[in-house]
Amino acid sequence: QQPPLQDMTLFRQQAFVAGRWEDAPDGKVKQVFNPANGKLVGTVPNLGADATRRAIDAANKALPDWRARTAKERAQILRKWFDLMMANQEDLAILMTVEQGKPLFESRGEIAYAASFIEWFGEEGKRAYGDVIPGHGRDKRIVVLKQPIGVTAAITPWNFPAAMIARKVGPALAAGCTMVIKPSELTPYSALAMCVLAQRAGIPDGVVSVVTGDSKPIGAELTGNPIVRKLSFTGSTGVGKLLMSQCSANVTKVSLELGGNAPFIVFDDADLDAAVAGAMASKYRNAGQTCVCANRIYVQGGVYDRFAEKLAETVKAMKIGDGLDKDTKIGPLIEEKAVKKVEEHVADAVGKGAKVLFGGKRVEGPGTFYVPTVLTGVTADMLAMREETFGPVAPLMKFDSDDEVIRLANATEFGLASYFYSRNIQRVWRVAEALESGIVGINEGIISTEVAPFGGVKESGIGREGSKYGLEEYMEIKYLCFGGI
Ligand code: ADP
Repeated sequence: QQPPLQDMTLFRQQAFVAGRWEDAPDGKVKQVFNPANGKLVGTVPNLGADATRRAIDAANKALPDWRARTAKERAQILRKWFDLMMANQEDLAILMTVEQGKPLFESRGEIAYAASFIEWFGEEGKRAYGDVIPGHGRDKRIVVLKQPIGVTAAITPWNFPAAMIARKVGPALAAGCTMVIKPSELTPYSALAMCVLAQRAGIPDGVVSVVTGDSKPIGAELTGNPIVRKLSFTGSTGVGKLLMSQCSANVTKVSLELGGNAPFIVFDDADLDAAVAGAMASKYRNAGQTCVCANRIYVQGGVYDRFAEKLAETVKAMKIGDGLDKDTKIGPLIEEKAVKKVEEHVADAVGKGAKVLFGGKRVEGPGTFYVPTVLTGVTADMLAMREETFGPVAPLMKFDSDDEVIRLANATEFGLASYFYSRNIQRVWRVAEALESGIVGINEGIISTEVAPFGGVKESGIGREGSKYGLEEYMEIKYLCFGGI
């Protein structure tokens, strides 16, 4: 079942290494399935360490010329890439929905979001300013330069098949770095389509490669090859820790965007309609499969019942289905394993006394669908409150005081996003400062934008993506000390 694209050349079933489209030398492939119906979409080459090494060598060869260009010259090419992504937004969105499952309106949104990183960082590359520091002696002058780190690598997940790549490759290329990318085995086609457009935009051979195949051999080469000076990874905390330890061999720098376990807090003084809208957006976007999805919902006693009712009413109205159907509001989960995890979390909660206000079951038939769910009477010991569910389940737990909810919210090893709704200015400041997370949504459920620094504290990661801080992740600081002046 091939994706129905206007421009079928965007559907590439080959890897993009050193500016060439290629198959595996031994003909091995990996299959890609549509989670909405379980049907085969196509295959990609199952490449390994050799192809990865060639991609790294090509990135190294392409580096001197790319690095030497002015930021403006690089920006002009990135701008073309952005324009091409937007001109092909519909095809890219269809391709994404077919391999990933999210509803088409979300895929369109993700393509625009992904493209925005390419555009924004192209511009920001022009502002990679250094410093002039007053010297420490009469004859001394100090100048600080920012220089591209060199050859970089990216390993990306399936939940945002285009955006997770764009927010790495955008700043990398803008800074003057080159990059080898390994997309998720589950969603390689969005990455490959972006390469088709990168080539059309005039990005030179070797500056960007996409290697498809098994994660372990490719990951081992990307982390072990001393030419690679930086790895940017988005994915699970377990794999992030493994890659970080692999990178220690060569002291390869890392940026890590790992798991979250986001608290979403509704205080008695919240605008309840806004809180419901925020919870809907944060919880059910991408069927609950984002690392900033509200995972634990804490609602203060005075508004608990009303919030639960309003949320359940809104959830009931969501149309489940194939993301290509235009009425679909929520698509399938990525694979069977994901449905099993959601079932486990719901069964555990119900077993410990939670009530299913709505949903609480999978959709029978083909595809890996789970009905969007609202649970009430939830307590802190339930799996759904301790682990990232990564599915469309909203567990609602009642709380009394600010201190209590802050303690509960922070009682996790994760610290990516948190959210709360309140209209009291003192409370807003106090809670915002007390929450242990890299991102806080205040009366806001959607926090992702290319202009702001996205990233986590604690075990949620290292580094930031987006904004001027995201560019710095791809630059080294060099300090020049002039003496005898
Ligand atoms: P998710 O739960 O989002 O699938 P993973 O951490 O398993 O998170 O996957 C994120 C990315 O990391 C994917 O591209 C996957 O192929 C890759 N990956 C998984 N295991 C490894 C590994 N051992 N080495 C390198 N990459 C890996």
